[in-house]
Amino acid sequence: MTSAPSRVTCQYGDVNHSFPCGDLSLDFVGTLKARRNDAPHETFTTPSSVSSWFDESGLVDSPVSFDDLRDAVELREAVYSVVTSARLHEPLEPDALALVNRAALAAPVQVQLDAGSRRASATASQALSSVARDAIDIVGGPHAALLRECARPECTQVYVDHSRAGRREWCAMETCGNRMKAAAYRARKRAEGE
Ligand SMILES: [Zn+2]
Repeated sequence: MTSAPSRVTCQYGDVNHSFPCGDLSLDFVGTLKARRNDAPHETFTTPSSVSSWFDESGLVDSPVSFDDLRDAVELREAVYSVVTSARLHEPLEPDALALVNRAALAAPVQVQLDAGSRRASATASQALSSVARDAIDIVGGPHAALLRECARPECTQVYVDHSRAGRREWCAMETCGNRMKAAAYRARKRAEGE
């Protein structure tokens, strides 16, 4: 992790990130999609893709350097390791745990109320600290027992099942849920035709 403020600033690209989970650190993990595919889909390809994620997540509008991009990917994979171990009730991998804890040592995003609106400022490492702290709150708290992986096998998105009934199957109904229901419908129709 770099602790000094970033000096390389990047303009936002035309990246549009999705936030199906509603939990900061788990949506952050979801920036690498289709993890079990031969070629997972990486959305953190440039510093501007990370700065746009920070901005679109509502966290902060922060400049991101190439060093920050590397730190973001390293933290993301460490968070994925920790939440996956927690979800599977397995011991946490020590290197991943150490990386998440190290990231959380930095000050988080500084927020102020400015005439009724939220004003946030942070370096990239502070933004990553906020992400790491969110992961710690999830894995170290009661939500750890509610960690799930999306039931669409290719998706691999991890989320906390906040639903009252505790039966949420998909990272998001609008995407994976509808795709799986459409596939099930087609399979049923095929079976009826045979
Ligand atoms: Zn999904």
